Amino acid sequence: MNCDQFKQAYHKFDGAPNVIHWKDWETREYGAYSDHMQDCPACRDWFQGQQLVEWKVDPASYPCLHMAYQANFQCGSHQDPWECPSVLIAYVEQYDEYGIPIRDGGESYWKIDNCPWCGTALPESKRELWIKKLKALGHDPFGDYEKIPVEFRSAKWYRNGDTPHLRLV
Ligand SMILES: [Zn+2]
Ligand SMILES: [Zn+2]
Ligand SMILES: [Zn+2]
Repeated sequence: MNCDQFKQAYHKFDGAPNVIHWKDWETREYGAYSDHMQDCPACRDWFQGQQLVEWKVDPASYPCLHMAYQANFQCGSHQDPWECPSVLIAYVEQYDEYGIPIRDGGESYWKIDNCPWCGTALPESKRELWIKKLKALGHDPFGDYEKIPVEFRSAKWYRNGDTPHLRLV
């Protein structure tokens, strides 16, 4: 399969609304499609860009295309990204941190400083600032999470209401 054929196949497989892959996985065409995705970085990026358009996510709100894709990826079977083995990178938006999830049933991760695919530097963690601001507002940052103001549980507290984390799938 070449790059043009890959793009055509995309519209048949992942580009179509409500895709159900169980019919496709066994076919030679789907095999060639997923092999091409593994082998061709240009088509992999193109694929992620297309998915972001469908999810109505603006990659410009993220450090790079890959992090935009990873932060917004959701599989059809898991609501909670911490439970989904297909989620490769966790994005913790209240701290603006990216990390590799540690699959121990909790929500821990190894923070990463660069995109593993393109090397782009990721933002400085806002965790210290988050703690400082919450304390200044009279909240206990380490106390009951439910008591922390809603905007501090997302990117809202540092993005002035402009939250990029849409997940509209
Ligand atoms: Zn290609
Ligand atoms: Zn999943
Ligand atoms: Zn990247």
